[in-house]
Amino acid sequence: MQIGKFSFGIGDRFAHQGEAQLQAFIMARQKGLDVTPVWNKSNREHTTVNSQPVETRKEADNAVRNLKWDGSWFVDADHINMGNVDRYIDSSDFFTIDVADYIGQKASEEDLNSFIENNSDFEGELIIPGIEGSFKVSKETLRLIGEKFLLAIREAAKIYRHIESAKGKNNFITEISMDEVSQSQSPLELFFILSAISAEGVPVQTIAPKFSGRFNKGVDYEGDADQFAEEFEQDLMVIDFAVKKFNLPGNLKLSVHSGSDKFSIYPVMGSLIRKHDKGIHVKTAGTTWLEEMTGMAMAEGSALDLAKRIYSEALKQFDELCKPYSTVIDINKDNLPSPEEVSSWDGTRFADALRHDPANPSYNSDLRQLIHVSYKIAAGMGNAYTDMLVRHKEIIARQVTDNIYYRHFTRIFDI
Ligand SMILES: [Zn+2]
Repeated sequence: MQIGKFSFGIGDRFAHQGEAQLQAFIMARQKGLDVTPVWNKSNREHTTVNSQPVETRKEADNAVRNLKWDGSWFVDADHINMGNVDRYIDSSDFFTIDVADYIGQKASEEDLNSFIENNSDFEGELIIPGIEGSFKVSKETLRLIGEKFLLAIREAAKIYRHIESAKGKNNFITEISMDEVSQSQSPLELFFILSAISAEGVPVQTIAPKFSGRFNKGVDYEGDADQFAEEFEQDLMVIDFAVKKFNLPGNLKLSVHSGSDKFSIYPVMGSLIRKHDKGIHVKTAGTTWLEEMTGMAMAEGSALDLAKRIYSEALKQFDELCKPYSTVIDINKDNLPSPEEVSSWDGTRFADALRHDPANPSYNSDLRQLIHVSYKIAAGMGNAYTDMLVRHKEIIARQVTDNIYYRHFTRIFDI
């Protein structure tokens, strides 16, 4: 089983927008661009809304059937570990193995020594084609990288073998993610991480490093875009070289856990993959839920009232809602409008505050981030929320499709 050159991860917390999401991929195809849809939902999201992985599978399969999509598609068990992988085995065919928690834990002395020994060919001046200059690699460099990452890779391999024993070889896509950590991984570190992955025999097809800068959910990138570009391009070259040196799958590509809406770096990523003729997997967060809220606001009446109620409830539960997302949101509480103020808004005003359009003076990224993490409140409303999704299906679907196509695909793939 192989993933195509371009793939795009979409999240959908309430499993109602599968068709609206897939519609964006159909529009891309009409422009001659093939992008593989991957429905991703993390364990954190499933736990928060109390949903089961099989629901994501059903949603994806139904969307594919109803819209007669004849390309491939996948269901991603996103950010799983040994403790929760089992509930995803049946319904997923893409596994994002998250070993961030193991980074920095030391492997045994014996394992470290064999890692250093395995990579001794690269000691001295390491030249990676496409990267200017060279890297100095000593035993000490290898030891430091090994101490940081080897145990994490060994854990990833354990999880991979666990999935393989249940699903069979070649029956699923393997991603390894290390993005949910505070420190980014350098291109040189990535090279030796890939060496260790190969030594463990894991057929990794996508790898998600942590890049420098902030990838907050649902808002733009914060950081030095030029530095990101340099890092990203070097990572592309590292993967190319590692595939050859370590005999990794030829379609191995970067996975960028973008957290959606990284408008300032999507064009940079796009032009670099075109420059080097590389593939990419871009993950987005469950911001489809924000499109639902936008659509409900635009629908006015009781749907707008419900959106307002969710917002004022979110203000009350601020700390609790933000806690699990502390590394991927930055909310300035002073910029959050009061419930009184919001209650006077019409649907357009609410949608303008929420929709990520930096050119709109009413856009409020703090409100947007708070609502992003407030889906738990909507989940608690049960049918009162999902009935509204059904009632205002069309206006919501338009927001969902347009968000993926116009705010993401056109920027990344230049269509
Ligand atoms: Zn991630």
